[in-house]
Amino acid sequence: VDLKKANDRLEELLDCVDHPRKVREGQRLYCGLDLGTAFIVLVVMDEDGNPVDCKYQFASVVKDGMVVDYVGACDIARRLKEQIEGELGVELEECAVAIPPETEALDGGVVKNVAESTGLECTAVFDEPTAANLLIGTTDGAVVDIGGGTTGISVFKDGKVVECIDESTGGTHFSLVLAGAKGMTFDDAEVYKRNPEHHREVLPIVSPTIDKVTTIIERACRDYEVPEVILVGGTAELTGIEDRVQKRLGIEVHKPSHPMFVTPMGIALGC
Ligand code: ATP
Repeated sequence: VDLKKANDRLEELLDCVDHPRKVREGQRLYCGLDLGTAFIVLVVMDEDGNPVDCKYQFASVVKDGMVVDYVGACDIARRLKEQIEGELGVELEECAVAIPPETEALDGGVVKNVAESTGLECTAVFDEPTAANLLIGTTDGAVVDIGGGTTGISVFKDGKVVECIDESTGGTHFSLVLAGAKGMTFDDAEVYKRNPEHHREVLPIVSPTIDKVTTIIERACRDYEVPEVILVGGTAELTGIEDRVQKRLGIEVHKPSHPMFVTPMGIALGC
């Protein structure tokens, strides 16, 4: 898949975080709310799919894809919405949300309720890797969303999802391994890991966990001919993770420029 268009949109989105775009009066806006294990992200796009604003906050209101602090989740989502409304000078009305694959029956309603508690009308509930693919646009390949608590995988064949799974290994496990190896607290390891200057040191320490993620990808793909794998999600920000996965998997692996923002942006595109 050609990632150029996705990468251009992601650069724009990152620029929006500090420089929200101007909106016209009465302009229709579309939001994507991503409630994650590590981050809650709210993305706003215009009708042409151009990013308008984006705000996010580190949070511990979701665990292994489940909302464990409902009031906390509502609070953060409301604050992000109010912050964006303050910046743009308009009221946001509609949003889409996403949940990890296989949690629909359990949690789909909860995530929707969090969104609606802020006053937004929820127009769609996606599974995360499928939402990510609304930006990536692969027709034949696997989109792998390595988040905080889980790794979600959607396998696409002729543009249709043929397999969709979620397993509980993600960046939180990387931080736990790092904390153990360096004698740090989990919170310190989490911050240390996210600094790109530490990635060369971090990569070999968390390699066994990367290999665990690769095994999960392998299992999801084994019944299909998968020509390429696209890594998204915050944990895919780790420099070099794509090379390790590709070597073990034996399938070409690609990564967009800001993988952490692919799913939130895809959700907004689906609104
Ligand atoms: P989930 O999808 O599992 O519910 P989430 O939506 O919060 O979780 P993401 O926001 O995609 O997941 O990713 C969060 C994870 O990405 C965290 O573990 C975080 O430490 C990790 N992460 C974020 N930025 C970086 C970075 N620059 N380097 C390494 N890891 C990073």
